[in-house]
Amino acid sequence: MAERSDSDSRNLLRRLRDVLAEPGNGQDRLDRITSLIAHSMGTEVCSIYLFRDPETLELCATEGLKPEAVHQTRMRLGEGLVGRVARVGNPINTHDAPSAPGFRYMPETGEEIYSSFLGVPIQRVGEKLGVLVVQSKEARDYKDDEVYGLEVVAMVLAEMTELGAFVGDGEGIGHSHRFPVMFRGSSGQEGACEGRVWLHEPRVVVTNPVGDDPDHEKQRLEDAVGALQAQVNDMISGSGDMDMDHRQVLETYRMLANSRGWMRRMTEDIALGLSAEAAVEKEQSQNRSRLEQAADPYLRERLSDLDDLSNRLLRLLTGQGTHTGAELPENPVLVAKNIGPAELLDYGRGLKGVVLEEGSVGSHAAVVARALAIPLVIHAKRITTEALNGDPILVDGDQGVVHLRPEDPVANAFRDKIAMQAEAQKRYADLRDLPAEDRQGTRINLVMNAGLLADLPSLQNSGAEGVGLFRTELQFLTRSRVPRRDELAQLYNRVMDAAQGKPVKFRTLDIGSDKVLPYMKPQDEPNPAMGWRAIRVGLDKPGVLRMQLQALIRAAGTRPLEVMFPFIACPSEFYAGRDALLRQRDREAALGRPVPECLKIGAMLETPSLGFAPDSFYQTCDFISIGGNDLKQFFFAADRENERVRRRYDTLDVSFLTFLERIIVRCEATNTVLSFCGEDAGRPVEALTFAALGLRTLSMRPASIGPIKHLIRRADLAELRQIVQRVRNEGHSSVRNAVTTYLAHL
Ligand code: PEP
Ligand code: MG
Repeated sequence: MAERSDSDSRNLLRRLRDVLAEPGNGQDRLDRITSLIAHSMGTEVCSIYLFRDPETLELCATEGLKPEAVHQTRMRLGEGLVGRVARVGNPINTHDAPSAPGFRYMPETGEEIYSSFLGVPIQRVGEKLGVLVVQSKEARDYKDDEVYGLEVVAMVLAEMTELGAFVGDGEGIGHSHRFPVMFRGSSGQEGACEGRVWLHEPRVVVTNPVGDDPDHEKQRLEDAVGALQAQVNDMISGSGDMDMDHRQVLETYRMLANSRGWMRRMTEDIALGLSAEAAVEKEQSQNRSRLEQAADPYLRERLSDLDDLSNRLLRLLTGQGTHTGAELPENPVLVAKNIGPAELLDYGRGLKGVVLEEGSVGSHAAVVARALAIPLVIHAKRITTEALNGDPILVDGDQGVVHLRPEDPVANAFRDKIAMQAEAQKRYADLRDLPAEDRQGTRINLVMNAGLLADLPSLQNSGAEGVGLFRTELQFLTRSRVPRRDELAQLYNRVMDAAQGKPVKFRTLDIGSDKVLPYMKPQDEPNPAMGWRAIRVGLDKPGVLRMQLQALIRAAGTRPLEVMFPFIACPSEFYAGRDALLRQRDREAALGRPVPECLKIGAMLETPSLGFAPDSFYQTCDFISIGGNDLKQFFFAADRENERVRRRYDTLDVSFLTFLERIIVRCEATNTVLSFCGEDAGRPVEALTFAALGLRTLSMRPASIGPIKHLIRRADLAELRQIVQRVRNEGHSSVRNAVTTYLAHL
């Protein structure tokens, strides 16, 4: 291989670009390109392998190997040297390919006579597209600048692939983003939907990967980096008296945006012939490969910051913003890396579903998706790289599975599932005005959880008898400042109006833990779920609590009002909250304002400690609502946000049921109204077991009311109770199997 200069590289890139502009089909272009690269780099062989499907690479063009092997030779991802390059996303450079680990002999190509091998991935911002290989008979290692030069060529090929330059008719060269792909994530909110992808942040399209004038491209890059640095400086100076942690994040951004190493690498790419945007993408692609392999959380964070900065830089260079002018498709399914609650609310009820690469079950986005009653899948890794706006997509929120561009049989089976669910919903609608009464006439009060005014129509549609939990944090989470009392009073008033006399239990602000207000100083606690949250914050910041209580009293006027305090761990917290509420009521009355004729004050039982509180506490509470989501995490010491442990313990474990039973008995003895409002209340097996144990009010998402009522009306709760007791007496650790069998025979 002859010595190569920057200008050789630039000439090659320009000729590649000319190939793109010339007429011809995808195969012609690939053939010309392999020949151009082999000649320019002075190697006997140049081959391009592209993905046939996400697991299979196919030899699509070659100069030097046997032509008969084209479209015949295939390898799995990870198989042979080519498969390994694709898998790890890094070059392989060896002077003795046949002895290199993983080498696979492919007789049809005639390649055993070539000793040296250099393969580089063809990839674009984390998306694997193929592998570019050069080979020579002479046993030699390729020099660093040759490896670098081939990576630059591969970057141009990646952009050309993205632009559809190699799509062919006869030979079946696939366009990327065409294959069906399945993503296995986790369920954030149940339900199923079919729709079209709507990317929250559309991909940047680079139409000119090759730069004609390196000085001009370098200037463009410098200007864009200057603008980026100014953006970061503005973020720092515009955020006022921000706390230390937030400032540190922005300072890291500033440091990265000023990084000489980053700038130097991009300038070198430009010198070899890339345009400024292709240079940014090349560095971003390599950064993504490192990100995929990095285990150290600190390093991952920095690499992810750099990824974010690269995106900003690309948008500055291409002028492509998040608003591309594209039309929202019909049945849009939002696809994003992550999204804040306010942004998600902006999309509103038009969305059919949401799929996120990150997120967590208790994240704000999940809270909003739950309130909007749309399926949500989280942890769908790499979906923003694969999906294009408008792609068909199926979201299975029950299983946490997403099918992108599904094949017909998958789509048909999925439609059957949706149709069956719709059919069942229709049947449940017929039950709407009937009571949830078992065969012996035992009545269960089914109420719903809500968090938005927009949830209230479900009260009438689902047949819920009231709202058992109105989470008030959404109005706080979706604003950039604490909402004003009048705003809140107006909202609560409208909620009560919409409830048309049905009871609504308002829960005071439950923040902290995973629910962090954008304008609240992050606490950096070692265990936020057990930290400064809910009523603890309320009592330490009495101004906010007082304001919310006033808003509730003003909204109610003379109407009955029910208020509950979250996360009460000991009676004194409840008494303090209760006193604050009574004081506000008396103050309003003293000012001559109307006050609720009936005021009921309750506590959420979310920590095991309350199960052992003195009788006087139970007597003072007008009602108690079991927050099963939190209670379970503390009962079993299993973080509800941690995928590794959160499903490990069964709600129907007899130890948990024995604890619930204890609370039921204590509430019966003290005449305290008891309800259960965690997610388990809306799950059939759990709900029926709770009812059999003696819980008479269950609060759930509206879509669960119909199915649960349907089951209760067929069941005999006394009979089920006997079954549960028998299983417990027999020493089984869970009653799940027995209850499931009972329900299956209804
Ligand atoms: C619970 O913990 O069960 C509950 C209803 O509250 P949240 O899910 O809002 O913490
Ligand atoms: Mg809770």
